[in-house]
Amino acid sequence: MIEFKNVTKTYPDGTTAIKDMDLSVKEGELLALIGPSGCGKTTTMKMINRLIEPTSGTILIHNKKISEYKINELRWNIGYVLQQIALFPHMTIEENISVVPEMKKWKKKDLSKRIDELMDMVGLDPETYRKRKPSELSGGQQQRVGVIRALAADPDIILMDEPFSALDPISREQLQTDIRELQQKIRKTIVFVTHDMDEALALGDRVCLMKEGEVVQLDTPQNLIMQP
Ligand code: ADP
Ligand code: ADP
Repeated sequence: MIEFKNVTKTYPDGTTAIKDMDLSVKEGELLALIGPSGCGKTTTMKMINRLIEPTSGTILIHNKKISEYKINELRWNIGYVLQQIALFPHMTIEENISVVPEMKKWKKKDLSKRIDELMDMVGLDPETYRKRKPSELSGGQQQRVGVIRALAADPDIILMDEPFSALDPISREQLQTDIRELQQKIRKTIVFVTHDMDEALALGDRVCLMKEGEVVQLDTPQNLIMQP
């Protein structure tokens, strides 16, 4: 589904963030990307939707080089959930969720139904919250909106970069459960960045352990736990 072949990224200042990376993410799996700060997780994510271009190597999605997709086609098909909650503050919750579907010219009726569905899915009552502004929601609720906004236009791929890092432990645990349940329902290809091993083991179908720009281990949580 997503394939990195011999990918290297060196930033203009000479920092090599990713070294000869080979990685494949299977269709419908949640891959947890874990490693210490600075190991290249965010760089990896940003290369998938071409916010950053690799210095060398190839990245394929559905067996096609990402450089051969139109940039909009690529980005619309990839939902990105950011570390910092990045909702538009002047827009209501429903307007926030509608941004990409509207660019894709979804019909109003289909979109409205979709918003209800998505909000219900993460336990936000549409009646109550549709017309509110982000500032009228708690941090955890805003982060949920961030997640469903990424899902709104039904992308094939979802990238989540430490989506829970700004949350208190209880909201964090609740959202982990949500994501697990969500993934069981929608079976999207998800790449999930975290620096929390418990979170990686709890959520990942497979866990990819990175260090200094390289993949050091890639396995199921079961196999990783069994290793000494
Ligand atoms: P992580 O997400 O795992 O913390 P990053 O991908 O953000 O790691 O960073 C990997 C390495 O690349 C780090 O050494 C970081 O300082 C460096 N880096 C990230 N972005 C830039 C940039 N724009 N310019 C130069 N170096 C960068
Ligand atoms: P993370 O939380 O993933 O480690 P950082 O806080 O390291 O992310 O980076 C935040 C932003 O700063 C990113 O957009 C990254 O590309 C950029 N950045 C990180 N390191 C450097 C660097 N050494 N030089 C320039 N930009 C950097």
